[in-house]
Amino acid sequence: MKIAIYDDGKLGLVQDGMVYDVSAALSVLPVSDQPWLAARGDLLIANLEQLRPAILAALPGAAAKPVGAARFLSPVQRPSKIIGVPVNYHEHVAEAEADVATFSDRFRGSIEQQGFFLKAVSALVGPGEGITLRFPDRRNDHEMELGVVIGREASNIGVDEALSIIAGYAIALDMVVRGPEDRSLRKSGDSYAVLGPWLVTADEVADPETLDFFLKVNGETRQESNTSRMIMKLAEQISYASRFYTLLPGDIIMTGTCEGVGPVTPGDTITCAIEGIADMTVAIHPAYADQRILK
Ligand code: MN
Repeated sequence: MKIAIYDDGKLGLVQDGMVYDVSAALSVLPVSDQPWLAARGDLLIANLEQLRPAILAALPGAAAKPVGAARFLSPVQRPSKIIGVPVNYHEHVAEAEADVATFSDRFRGSIEQQGFFLKAVSALVGPGEGITLRFPDRRNDHEMELGVVIGREASNIGVDEALSIIAGYAIALDMVVRGPEDRSLRKSGDSYAVLGPWLVTADEVADPETLDFFLKVNGETRQESNTSRMIMKLAEQISYASRFYTLLPGDIIMTGTCEGVGPVTPGDTITCAIEGIADMTVAIHPAYADQRILK
């Protein structure tokens, strides 16, 4: 099942190039009687199993539009964490080590030596919103990644059971301002975490570790690889993360990027695809310029 959130917040089911408005299914979501207490994960992802039959029930007669005419938001709206996995493709490690001036040598060593990092959840957008650069005078890079969405609450789990807690997959862009600051700052600007265009539920992806993917900027191929080139495999990533903190439904893992990381500037258009997941187009908007209290 390909599940989207689109336009003004509609729930969508994507089939055969069309997105169907199945928002009626949202009525199965529980309503909290204590909404001021912290949620244990994303409401929609936490209730995905109840939502699936409701989505199918809402499909007959649902309004539909072509995928190309919809504005896709992130299919996860309220993750508790966006987890980043650094240096996870051999060829990207090589390009980073060969260009310390750009990639910084602040962090060195294997993934286990560096650990994971977190991106602010306020950075999350869908492809329809596009990316707005914060520091257009500095180098802003795209990192094309397989996005894994966690489906269940789990802590300290083993590699053998790790894949069973995945809700689904999406395309992830781990955007970054290059420079000397901590990664958690440079990768957390508004819109620097793109997820979309929809969630493909785990049952539709036979083997997430053999998927071709690419990213182009203005039609020119920058990144092209296969998820089989990951150094730390998905099950190890989930198990490793769960040893540090409880994973909650809706948590997003950006599983690392391949070689070909490069800059974007306002006016550019990113097109990218992961085999069996989706393709998506993301605009790089003019740089953020507001200097005011927004609300
Ligand atoms: Mn990354």
